[in-house]
Amino acid sequence: MTLETALRRSDHRVTRPRQLVWDVLHEAGTHLSAAEIVDAVHVLDPGVNSSSVYRTLGLFAELNLVRESRLGETSTWEPAHEDAVIHLICSRCGTTSHHDAAVVDTLRAQLEQSGNFEPHSIDVTVTGRCAHCSTAS
Ligand SMILES: [Zn+2]
Ligand SMILES: [Zn+2]
Repeated sequence: MTLETALRRSDHRVTRPRQLVWDVLHEAGTHLSAAEIVDAVHVLDPGVNSSSVYRTLGLFAELNLVRESRLGETSTWEPAHEDAVIHLICSRCGTTSHHDAAVVDTLRAQLEQSGNFEPHSIDVTVTGRCAHCSTAS
């Protein structure tokens, strides 16, 4: 899906900051903090205001185009994706990574079968220490 298609559905226009934030998130292939997104956008176009980057992230989150992984004060961002994945967040360095987990699909199937609750999105986050931080300490 292009950004234009995604935004047109909600009557929003493509602007330069929106296009750049979208490109940065899709090319990164990893979870980025807002500060890292601002830096990457500035590499492409130093003229883009940091506050437009933050506003764009807010808009994308509202439209479910991005997924925010939050731990305390810090957040990382990535393009929205299927939820059959667990997010691992390092509580020391804030690095976020994915863990494929069949348990999410199992949980969804169990909830659907129970008939008591219809799941829309399942967001499982595990906090702990990443490999780098657990060997560093
Ligand atoms: Zn870490
Ligand atoms: Zn993710």
